[in-house]
Amino acid sequence: MAKTIAIANQKGGVGKTTTSVNLSACLAAEKKKVLLVDVDPQGNATSGYGVDKSKIGQSIYNVLVDGLPIKEAIQKTNFENLHILPATIELAGAEVELVSAISRETKLKRAIDQIKENYDYVIIDCPPSLGLLTLNSLTAADSVLMPIQCEFYALEGVSQLMNTVKLVQQNLNSDLTLEGVLLTMYDSRTKLSMQVAEEVKNHFQERVYQTVIPRNVRLSEAPSYGQPIIEYDPKSKGAEVYRALAKEVIANE
Ligand code: ADP
Ligand code: MG
Repeated sequence: MAKTIAIANQKGGVGKTTTSVNLSACLAAEKKKVLLVDVDPQGNATSGYGVDKSKIGQSIYNVLVDGLPIKEAIQKTNFENLHILPATIELAGAEVELVSAISRETKLKRAIDQIKENYDYVIIDCPPSLGLLTLNSLTAADSVLMPIQCEFYALEGVSQLMNTVKLVQQNLNSDLTLEGVLLTMYDSRTKLSMQVAEEVKNHFQERVYQTVIPRNVRLSEAPSYGQPIIEYDPKSKGAEVYRALAKEVIANE
């Protein structure tokens, strides 16, 4: 039975998609069966695996809005042990189209429940908002992994996300837990990065992963080749840290 982890933070550009793509790949490399679910209308996780968006027939949109069986929208990737439920820009409409739907917050959960036994991990790449798509993700998830960028205003919005998690726990998914907090884009040369890391550790204590993701150019280049970092540059620092994160996530089971 899969463990479902939502990668969430309503701030954009904090490393959600980079973490979703590379954590999934590293879990798959550890022989885990992984489904990556792209819940962002930007579809960056989808293109991060080199899936040609113009050739996607059925996507997560059809699963959420039309009730398409999830199996019919899941695709294989070039990566062994890794499947993807792709997203296209069409998904942007779902946020509005689902508003009047019955049990609108549990659509994704019910879809994932159909295939949970086929995987070890389901990784959900959330969009940068706390709207209906993120609520669906948190309702479907067993736990939340929150990337925090080591930049100014890093903790801004974190309490809002934690409040949303609490609301979901109270109303939709009482089993939801905090998987962990991941420091991203750490730059050891700047005092600011160190200060932010310290602040986050004071706040979340042992929930912060030992693995810290540094700024690494190779990580930002890999998506344009449609490859996760362990394929694009397996010897890079970026590959090393995401492998270490996958090991921490597995040890956390
Ligand atoms: P989000 O999904 O939270 O919006 P992304 O993962 O798309 O954030 O990251 C935002 C941008 O920063 C992207 O261009 C990505 O390639 C880049 N990026 C993410 N993590 C790193 C990193 N550790 N080092 C360098 N660039 C990064
Ligand atoms: Mg993203």
